[in-house]
Amino acid sequence: MSNRRNIYFFHTNSSDMLEKIRPLHDLAERYSFNIVKDARQANIILSVGGDGTFLQAVRKTGFREDCLYAGISTGGNLNMYCDFLLDDTSKMIDSMTQEQIEVRRYPTIEITLDDQPSFYALNELSIRSSVIKTVVMDLFIDNIHFETFRGDGIVIATPTGSTAYNKSVNGAVVDPSLPCFQVSELASLNNNTYRTLGSSFILGENRSLTVHVSQNGNEYPTIGMDNEAMSIRHVNQIKVNLSSRQIKTVKLKDNSFWEKVRRTFL
Ligand code: NAP
Ligand code: MN
Repeated sequence: MSNRRNIYFFHTNSSDMLEKIRPLHDLAERYSFNIVKDARQANIILSVGGDGTFLQAVRKTGFREDCLYAGISTGGNLNMYCDFLLDDTSKMIDSMTQEQIEVRRYPTIEITLDDQPSFYALNELSIRSSVIKTVVMDLFIDNIHFETFRGDGIVIATPTGSTAYNKSVNGAVVDPSLPCFQVSELASLNNNTYRTLGSSFILGENRSLTVHVSQNGNEYPTIGMDNEAMSIRHVNQIKVNLSSRQIKTVKLKDNSFWEKVRRTFL
């Protein structure tokens, strides 16, 4: 990590957490890292918590490509984005003292709501009815009409997000070395008027998915990006592409994607 010396710790500010964080500060200082208070000055961003915290750390610091993210788990188990246990300082020291750190890269998706600037997601974009009625949406792949969806909503997941919400609705787990994104249905209603594919489908890196929310009286679905709900109320068109931005994290001997899947689920 020779040229990366500025660390920013991302965590909640409860007194309990500040207590847990103190040994990490001491460790970083002992190995001559600078702890910065402003994330913009960091080139290493360490989230302390769970996968949800890691998603927030990436989101709140702007999906930066010029820094390395790593997750430290406080829950006692390693999980999908957390490769270090809070108490396992020797593993952290091993990484900190490496001459040349190797990185893993995770694809993200880019989301455009009407004409606004792009948003990004590391896990997924979810579009869900916010009322008891179904939501109706037209889905276009590369601007060609694909299907008219009626039901609870859809989830558009990245490869690393494929083990999260997407997996709960029977989507496939996708290797993050494949640049792609997956569309899964939430309780689609299928009859002679509304017909959807019925299975998840995976789009390649040059495809775009466009979603038109039908103006049929339920045009305000809940739009979620990772673990954050968008505050935008009215939206007509939602466009999703694979982004050129990738999130970099530390490559370790024991944290290949399939190793993580095994340790988390099997
Ligand atoms: P949460 O509702 O508190 O937690 C959802 C669970 O998903 C937590 O156990 C979380 O791990 C885990 N998780 C997050 N990202 C994951 C990933 N990429 N692979 C496997 N597990 C993952 O919310 P949260 O902790 O803020 O996480 C947000 C995520 O929850 C969303 O991005 C979405 O994928 C997922 N979610 C799932 C469902 C569902 O399955 N029905 C519904 C809504 C949202 P930690 O405990 O380590 O944080
Ligand atoms: Mn969580």
